[in-house]
Amino acid sequence: MKRNLENVYGPRGTFSTRERHGLTRNIDLSTGTLSGRSVVEEYNPRVSYYMNKEVGNFHYGVLHPMKPHRLTLTNHLVMNYGLHKYMDIFEPRQATEEEIVEFHSPNYTEFLKRVTPDNVQEIQEQFTSFNIGDDCPIFDGIWEFCKIYSGASIEAARKLISGDADICINWMGGLHHAKKYEPSGFCYVNDIVLAILQMLRVYPRVLYVDIDIHHGDGVQEAFYMTDRVMTVSFHKYNGDFFPGTGAIDEVGSGIGKYSTINVPLKDGIEDSEYNSLFKSVISEVMKAFRPTAIVLQCGADSLGLDRLGVFNLSIKGHGECVRFMKKFNIPMLVLGGGGYTVRNVARCWTYETGIICGVDLQNTLPNTVYTDFFAPDYKLHPVLGGKITNENTKSFLEAVRTSVIEQLRYLKGAPSVQMQEIPPDIQGFLESESNYNFDVQSDLNKDQKDPIVGIPKKSMVSEYYEDDMDNE
Ligand SMILES: [Zn+2]
Repeated sequence: MKRNLENVYGPRGTFSTRERHGLTRNIDLSTGTLSGRSVVEEYNPRVSYYMNKEVGNFHYGVLHPMKPHRLTLTNHLVMNYGLHKYMDIFEPRQATEEEIVEFHSPNYTEFLKRVTPDNVQEIQEQFTSFNIGDDCPIFDGIWEFCKIYSGASIEAARKLISGDADICINWMGGLHHAKKYEPSGFCYVNDIVLAILQMLRVYPRVLYVDIDIHHGDGVQEAFYMTDRVMTVSFHKYNGDFFPGTGAIDEVGSGIGKYSTINVPLKDGIEDSEYNSLFKSVISEVMKAFRPTAIVLQCGADSLGLDRLGVFNLSIKGHGECVRFMKKFNIPMLVLGGGGYTVRNVARCWTYETGIICGVDLQNTLPNTVYTDFFAPDYKLHPVLGGKITNENTKSFLEAVRTSVIEQLRYLKGAPSVQMQEIPPDIQGFLESESNYNFDVQSDLNKDQKDPIVGIPKKSMVSEYYEDDMDNE
């Protein structure tokens, strides 16, 4: 369902499809909030943006660092900068239970569906223990919250598959710690795994890149044994920092060996080092793996001054990773994730929405009803770096880089997946986005799934691919 934004964010004037797709963007400065230096880039993707006006009202608890309200702040900045002119905006449907059990165990899913703050003790007794506690509390509306952010990621994945968008943004998603059988690290349902499972029905190889300060363990674990998803996580690692995994020698197993990449970092890393390492690693990953779709998790707890983070990245440094990924011109799903200093999360994701739309945003924030959150500077780019001592030496970072590049050499060429024709269920979906033949097909295939995550086995999947790429 497409929302009428005028009702939510106030009148912004009319805009045409032509404007939205950027054809007139360099002369359209009617909002007064664009810088006047709007960039018309070579690659001008069609962007879809997924939002839900209720999602910011869920509460994990007064003392809990995860504040869904950051999403409300982000949406208000995005709209008041006028970025809705350059995107299609969707308020997606919620995920269904059937979609959630594509990855999560039915038992855990049933628990999430039934549990409330009032019955948590009683319900816990009926199920095995599910790691509920301070990190993952049971709050009012938890099941609905999960269905909202997961539904958006699933719909965004399908939008990419349909070819109706080149880049889809869901800042509500990116909850990378959730496990098949239990919640973890503020994450209950792993929308990333659910989205990638959709994408694997059409895309031969999906690259997952994670720039949250925490290791993307839930996604890594789900795809640890397949060569069709490469996971690349940049994170703080010392064996102790949550979630404790993400060492450089976790490389995947079985046919998935070498398809898992971990880039462990120390406290205080700064923009120039992070961006240099990121670009160096990703360039080699793109050559070795040749993904046909990308999922980028943009956890904003890697920013300086984050309530839980220990890096020194600026919003520009963080956004540079998004800019770099965009340049590959491959269908991309961009997701949120961590981020616990809410004013900076909103700034960061707004800036990155601007990058994706190819629009330069002026540094002075537009007025919104939440302007007070951004005192005292009211800028898009506050100074965030320099507060944490940088423990990453040049030689340490070079050793990490060398090790990762070496690992990629072991990846014996990108796996080639045969594709003679688009399967009938996908074809049906392409004709109508609201046709969920996927689900029917997935039910039919239930007993033929990969035991870990339910990926259709290679031999069952007919996929398109470019001959010249896969048979090199
Ligand atoms: Zn995180």
